[in-house]
Amino acid sequence: MKINLLDLKAQYDTIEHEINKVVKEVLESTHFIMGPNVKKLEAEIAEYTGTKYGIGVANGTDALMLTLKALGIGEGDEVITTPFTFFASAETTSVVGATPVFADIEKDTLCIDCDSIEKNITKKTKAIIPVHIFGQMCDMDRIMEIAEKHNLVVIEDACQAIGAQYKGKKAGSIGHVGCYSFFPTKNLGGYGDGGMIVTNDDELAEKIKLLRVHGSKVKYHHEVIGHNSRLDEIQAAILRVKLNYIDKWNDARKEHAHIYNELLKDVDVQLPTERENCKHVYHLYTIQSLKRDELAAYLKENGIATGIYYPIPVHFQKVYEYLNYKKGDLKNAEDACEKTFALPLYPEMTKEQQEYVVSKIKEFFER
Ligand SMILES: *Cc1c(COP(=O)(O)O)cnc(C)c1O
Repeated sequence: MKINLLDLKAQYDTIEHEINKVVKEVLESTHFIMGPNVKKLEAEIAEYTGTKYGIGVANGTDALMLTLKALGIGEGDEVITTPFTFFASAETTSVVGATPVFADIEKDTLCIDCDSIEKNITKKTKAIIPVHIFGQMCDMDRIMEIAEKHNLVVIEDACQAIGAQYKGKKAGSIGHVGCYSFFPTKNLGGYGDGGMIVTNDDELAEKIKLLRVHGSKVKYHHEVIGHNSRLDEIQAAILRVKLNYIDKWNDARKEHAHIYNELLKDVDVQLPTERENCKHVYHLYTIQSLKRDELAAYLKENGIATGIYYPIPVHFQKVYEYLNYKKGDLKNAEDACEKTFALPLYPEMTKEQQEYVVSKIKEFFER
């Protein structure tokens, strides 16, 4: 049996007619930039997440970058984030000229650790970027408390967590700003790049909208130096179809994760944990093992794809050598990078496929 980490074709097969119809409508309308689908998707995502504004942008990285810029964060400022994430969570801080500062992660959830955030706050700290890693939300009550105490902005990197919840509130809606990615492999993925920013802040929303189109509100009148970072109309039309299914798909991911947990309960690997009163949406189902690399190779031999998230913590990336982090500085994140990897998981996956994956994992340990 061959099993992919993700099967986007299986998902397309279930919505093919709806997708083809809306794409054709956009093609025939010839309204390709900032058309009605972008506006509607912005309103729909704002409503879905319980926020006032949704602002479509070109991708999740730009969502973070434009937010930092709109907040006036730049040279001389520090932004605290996790080193156990996709590079963009920190890269964007550097792009605007500020310095990323890394806090360690919680051993069990792999989310940013709040004690470590507090230890890293200095006079220069301007913002915290918690990343809801693999679809599980960070300890947002404590993060907001810390932010309030030190007068910091909280930018939720919810790129992996659309639909996830923390005590009944959606990912992206608790911080001052939330950022989503519609990269094809994300839980709500387009068929190309896309991203969105959500916020309740009127002034910030205005600034972000200005920055995403060349600093211009009225065509050919430019108030500030901006960017070209719009969400594509075809992607917006596709995402509006997919948004109707996001809860169903997230629930299926969660069910499959629980099936894995059950099937793997006697196997010598560390299973994912769920924060209390929260909804984990399992962007990735990750397990931990010191034998990760051998196990992944064995699964590959048996036709099963796995993904290593993340092979190198961000503080050890070559480009951040100048920050002078040493081995052991962020121990939990460094350990996680040696042990964590993802098993195949997607909404359309069958129990038979999951059983096959687990049977091969058991076979590996019994050899
Ligand atoms: C995917 C991702 C991003 C970047 O999103 P793009 O749309 O690929 O630019 C940022 N942060 C995290 C945590 C992500 O997973």
